[in-house]
Amino acid sequence: MAEDLIQLSPAGLYCPAGGFHIDPWRPVQRAVITHAHGDHARGGMGVYVSSHDGLALLRSRLPRGSLLRGVGYGRRFRMGRAWVSLHPAGHILGSSQVRVELGDRVWVASGDFKRDPDPTCAPFEVVPCDTFITEATFALPIYRWRPASLVAVDIHEWWQQNAEAGKASVLFCYALGKAQRLLAELAAHTADTVYLHGAMVPLTRTYREAGVAMLPTEPVSELPARHDFSRALILAPPSAAGSPWMRRFRSHVSGFASGWMRVRGNRRRRGYDRGFIVSDHADWPSLIRTIRETGAQRVLATHGRTDVLVRYLREIERVDAAPLVTPYSGEADD
Ligand SMILES: [Zn+2]
Ligand SMILES: [Zn+2]
Repeated sequence: MAEDLIQLSPAGLYCPAGGFHIDPWRPVQRAVITHAHGDHARGGMGVYVSSHDGLALLRSRLPRGSLLRGVGYGRRFRMGRAWVSLHPAGHILGSSQVRVELGDRVWVASGDFKRDPDPTCAPFEVVPCDTFITEATFALPIYRWRPASLVAVDIHEWWQQNAEAGKASVLFCYALGKAQRLLAELAAHTADTVYLHGAMVPLTRTYREAGVAMLPTEPVSELPARHDFSRALILAPPSAAGSPWMRRFRSHVSGFASGWMRVRGNRRRRGYDRGFIVSDHADWPSLIRTIRETGAQRVLATHGRTDVLVRYLREIERVDAAPLVTPYSGEADD
């Protein structure tokens, strides 16, 4: 039997024919990076290869002096004996799937991906392959997303109602990707300025520089201490919840936007007043549809809940499926 094109090594997914790792978690010579989220892009690699669209975000997240090389989506380049190309994953700005070709075999590693429309990044491209390594963050049948454009209507209404009651709306969400997607979706409903926690300011600037249209924003930190936030929408990362930073908003209502809000009890447990279900990962129907569309006869599931998906693929879809166990920090990036 032919050797697997992509294998699990102590440093992460490894392509022996190409001599490179994908999103390695330990320092290696050559790293192909699918996107800039912290559990995929770590410091210490000899050289980084990423999509052109993802380069600026990656540079802002990696140690100074890191060696980065950007390639356009769909452009084939040689690494070792393999042909490699990156294709849009629809997850966040610059996110990629990695296609590896050796002889007549093609493998694709999805990285994090979604199929739902997202005005902040290139849409997912179906890349035909023999073996598909899929992420499985939300790989349970209960995970089905409503379009984010509809959730944005709910968020806008919530914000308006809070404003009428004289309360600030503090919406917690992941700082890279989710915040910018919400700012882009909300632009269909208002032109008002949204206030940002400091962690989101440089990331949002990078999206603007990439030409992504979003609501105007202003850093909270640049406003006078007595600023009146009573009609404002503020975006902040979950780490800011309950911190002294929140005091300036005085009377406020809190919300959390994440795929994890689909889990019953999560909102209450974490003390948010309102949950909005918006995810940058594929839901269950999208996972199954995508696997079918790739035509892959073999599927390796990684990055999250793999057990139910693997069983479903074997029994219902009749494909050769197996888990690929990698260290995974769960909720970190949604
Ligand atoms: Zn991610
Ligand atoms: Zn991830």
